[in-house]
Amino acid sequence: MFKFLRDKLKNVMSAFSKKVEEEISPGEIKEAKAEPKKEAPVIEKKGEIKAPITEKILPKKVKEISKPEGRKIAEPKPATEKVMKEAMETEKPAVAEKMAEAVHPEKLEKLRDELVKEETKPEKRGFFDKIFGKKEEGKKGILEAITQPFSTTTLSEGKFENLFWDLEVILLENNVAVEVIDKIKKDLKSRLVGVPLKRGDVENIIQKSLEESIENLFLVVKPDIIKNIKSKKPYVMVFVGINGSGKTTTIAKVAQLLKKNGYKSVIAAGDTFRAAAIQQLEQHAEKLNVKLIKHKYGSDSAAVAFDAIKFAEAHHYDAVLVDTAGRMHSNTNLMDEMQKIIKVAKPDMKIFVGESITGNDCIEQAKRFDYAIGIDAIILSKADVDEKGGAAISVSYVTGKPIIYLGTGQKYEDLTEFEPKVLVESLGLAG
Ligand code: GDP
Repeated sequence: MFKFLRDKLKNVMSAFSKKVEEEISPGEIKEAKAEPKKEAPVIEKKGEIKAPITEKILPKKVKEISKPEGRKIAEPKPATEKVMKEAMETEKPAVAEKMAEAVHPEKLEKLRDELVKEETKPEKRGFFDKIFGKKEEGKKGILEAITQPFSTTTLSEGKFENLFWDLEVILLENNVAVEVIDKIKKDLKSRLVGVPLKRGDVENIIQKSLEESIENLFLVVKPDIIKNIKSKKPYVMVFVGINGSGKTTTIAKVAQLLKKNGYKSVIAAGDTFRAAAIQQLEQHAEKLNVKLIKHKYGSDSAAVAFDAIKFAEAHHYDAVLVDTAGRMHSNTNLMDEMQKIIKVAKPDMKIFVGESITGNDCIEQAKRFDYAIGIDAIILSKADVDEKGGAAISVSYVTGKPIIYLGTGQKYEDLTEFEPKVLVESLGLAG
């Protein structure tokens, strides 16, 4: 499900973040990461450390006082020892920074001695490792902490617009609606433009932003038809959608779901425009052992719905599932017929069935049916064979109606309750 879009998103997010990170000045990064490696302390013999250590690492003030040429080194005072010990033992950069500020020549000399001892014990991390940022898992070196402010960048709006273009193309190619792309863009912009961005963080920020944007497309409350059925008898559901969208199969799947939950339902073969549709439903009803009400081919579909409701009332059935004709959604007669069925059947739930794979067409159909009869919920069929996912991502946001189920195969059990989290996971965006 949605594999094509998932792979594309992965690539474009990675390329996007690389381009943003190129904005972070490579020179400053070098200073922070590469240089210390070159200048790593070399201990030639006990007590002697090559000069660059102090020159490159310690602040200027410290550098000046760390060349005590000709000066007599006094015995370390207890306070000095304490500071040094702290720096050796603790992992907190704050202590070492404190030391760097407070250090005196004699303290430094003592530190060097201590360091030599430390360096001869390979299993322990030396102080300079801490300074240089030779990392223990999850811990930062002091130098890294000091230079970090320089290794960030802020992205301008113009640059963001340029970079977003590639992502926008991928989303368009995968049938994501323009309204949704605008929302994704706005959310992402607020996280990337004008805020300090660190190298290595950008891809994560993009992923998190997409994850949240997509999850937030589904804030509209999803009705629980299994629960709702308890509240009214018979609970009437009318299914609308164009021919071939999987409407008949979906009605059969819902009948099976209700049966599993202990409800008795009757199906109304309301697509009287196609003889095949009546036969198809007949076969499903037989297989599922569910009651079917049908009239002759070409008869009034509102009358079929009416009869099915009367039957359900008389026999205390829990639900009525009404099929409808599905000529092109732009057909005015069809929409008039829909309105008539709605007037007669007074359904508790009007469900639009759309084919996930048709992307923007599916969204367009949903809008038309919503305009004509005011749909309450959406079932997207054939999500199992949809590699793009644009309709699933967009249709709820564009119409303001919830997706309640996804059709995920041709078997009766292949009806999966829709969860935004699962969609986000299928797109490889769950954090
Ligand atoms: P209708 O014309 O809208 O009633 O569509 P049908 O219910 O006859 O379905 C058309 C075709 O789509 C049939 O071959 C179904 O088996 C198939 N179909 C329906 N739902 C799904 C689904 O969720 N997944 C897959 N893979 N095929 C489906």
